[in-house]
Amino acid sequence: MTLANAPAGEESGAPLPTVISADAISRRVRELGVEISAAYTDREPVLVLVLHGAFIFAADLARALTAGYQVESLALASYHGRESSGQVQVVKDLGCEIAGRDVLIVEDIVDTGRTAAAALALLESRDPRSIEVVALLDKPSRRVIEVNPRWVGFEIEDVFVVGYGLDLDGRFRGLPYIASADALDLKGDS
Ligand code: 5GP
Repeated sequence: MTLANAPAGEESGAPLPTVISADAISRRVRELGVEISAAYTDREPVLVLVLHGAFIFAADLARALTAGYQVESLALASYHGRESSGQVQVVKDLGCEIAGRDVLIVEDIVDTGRTAAAALALLESRDPRSIEVVALLDKPSRRVIEVNPRWVGFEIEDVFVVGYGLDLDGRFRGLPYIASADALDLKGDS
C-alpha cells in the first residue's frame, strides 16, 4: 500500500493517538459558526485562509456561517518539519483590496504567534475596517509574540499535532481528527 491510499491515520503504519476527535471538532466548528455569524450580522467579512493548514477548518467553518462572506487566501511559510524557522515569508498574497472591509483571518493553529502576528501586521497596514483572528487550535504555552485570537476552537498543550488539514512535511492532512505526532520517529524520512 502506498502512502497516498493508506487508511487515515495509518500513514506511519499505526494509528496516531487522538488529541481531538472528529465529533468534537465538528461540534466546536458549528458553535464557532454561530458565534462568528452573530458578530458579522449585516456585514460580509473577507475570510482570509492562512494556507495550507487552515483549508479544511476554513471549509467547514464557512459552511457553518449564516453571514455572507468572501474567501481569499494568504500563504505564509514559517515551518520546516516540527521546528519553526522563526522567519515568516509571504508566499502568496491576497487577490483583493481589503481597505474598509471586515477581515477574519482563519488560522489552523497559533503556536509561537509569529505567523498570526505577521498576517495581522501585513493586513492591518491595508486599512481594513476591522480585523480579527479565528484559530482552530491555540498553544498559548509556546507563544513568543503576543497574539490573542478572538475565537479559538481548542486550547492544546505543547504537542505537535497533525490531521484536519495540519501536516507534518505534507503528510497526515487528511486525518479526520487531530492527532499527536510526537511519538513519530522521523529519522530516515524525507
Ligand atoms: P506560529 O507562527 O504560530 O509558530 O505557527 C503557525 C504555523 O505553524 C501554523 O499555521 C502551522 O502551520 C504550524 N504549526 C504550529 N504548530 C503546529 C503543530 O502542532 N502541528 C502542525 N502540523 N503545524 C503546526
